[in-house]
Amino acid sequence: MPDQRHSSGAEPGKHTRYALLEGSPGDPWRASSPPIYQTATFEQESPEGFGRYDYARSGNPTRETLERHVARLEGAVGCVALASGVAAITAVTRLLVPGDRLVAHLDLYGGTQRLLSCLAGERGIDVVHADLVDGDLDALSPGTRLVLVESLTNPLWRAPDLRAIAARCRAIGALLAVDATAMSPWLQRPLSFGADCVLHSATKLLSGHGDVTAGVISSASEDLHRRLAFLQNAEGSGLAPFDSWLLLRGMRTLGVRVDRQQESATRIAAWLARRPDVRAVHQPSLPSHPDVLRHAAQAEGPGVVVSFETGDEERSLEIVRRLQRFAIAVSFGSVDSTASLPCRMSHASVPPELRALRALPGDLIRLSIGLEDPADLMADLAQALAAPSLRASPSPAPEGRRGRWTPVSM
Ligand code: PLP
Repeated sequence: MPDQRHSSGAEPGKHTRYALLEGSPGDPWRASSPPIYQTATFEQESPEGFGRYDYARSGNPTRETLERHVARLEGAVGCVALASGVAAITAVTRLLVPGDRLVAHLDLYGGTQRLLSCLAGERGIDVVHADLVDGDLDALSPGTRLVLVESLTNPLWRAPDLRAIAARCRAIGALLAVDATAMSPWLQRPLSFGADCVLHSATKLLSGHGDVTAGVISSASEDLHRRLAFLQNAEGSGLAPFDSWLLLRGMRTLGVRVDRQQESATRIAAWLARRPDVRAVHQPSLPSHPDVLRHAAQAEGPGVVVSFETGDEERSLEIVRRLQRFAIAVSFGSVDSTASLPCRMSHASVPPELRALRALPGDLIRLSIGLEDPADLMADLAQALAAPSLRASPSPAPEGRRGRWTPVSM
């Protein structure tokens, strides 16, 4: 029976598109919440005639409902849902063969960095790190097969120029993969700027409740989608049915969560930027952010995460220890607020030489803002920042680093 909510004339508004799930494939009962097909295998009519599903690693109706929903929101031809964000990045890199060149922007999640080191060492991939935000795009030279950028970059929240990078990739025949974990499709859809695929650690904003690890990759072309779907099956990295259902449930509230959380994050960023005891604040809603205009032209909001520097690593450590309403935790994008020190936590695996090249400040504190009252969060930050032993004023920012990332030339 056709679902009238999906075929009722006018193009639906953004909230409507996010709220509407297509029915689970073949479900006769029109369940309002998609059924969880918690099964590994599907009985076949005969040994010769296979049905739509045979084995859950290759396909499962709950996972397929999720994949179709994500693909629709991204404007993609298809999506594969995988066991984690890292599994998604791994799948994209499996498109390369030894000797191929991969160019990645410098500012990357630490786990991605670790994976790229393995690729260089064990799989013979030529991995090049370049500054694709402040530098020119000369590093994207002919012969490059894959370009990987985060949008926004983690944890300094810089905004690569997606249109320019996509155009350059097209000119040299490279694939562009954008990790848009910090944005979600609610705020940014990189395929509309010419990326070949967009991936997410769905563990973050898409799930939003910190109860599942998952990754998704949505592709602009049938060919790329088919290759990634082949890898999902061949390498056994597909998302399990129950996790697919949890992710679908989280995604139904994505828009209201992100809108509310980023409104609070924007207030908190502005409040931090006014404080004399804070040295630099990184969030693209701030007029001091180097990419504020570019970001506004390619996204619908700054996101829910704010990073700031204090001028002193020990002071940052002490501030994070004193926070009471923020859980000290890696990850971000959940309904509850978290604080972390990237250099000691999520990015600890970045080798010191690369950290220096990236100009990643050791005193950086990363806050993910949840659904709590922003006044409560600011009161908590104020008490942590104003603790008696911490009143010393911060050391001045090095030249060119006030509120921005110093350009790094390769
Ligand atoms: N991409 C970004 C930008 C991330 O921040 C993370 C994790 O923090 C990942 C990918 C990896 O995702 P997962 O932890 O789901 O494997």
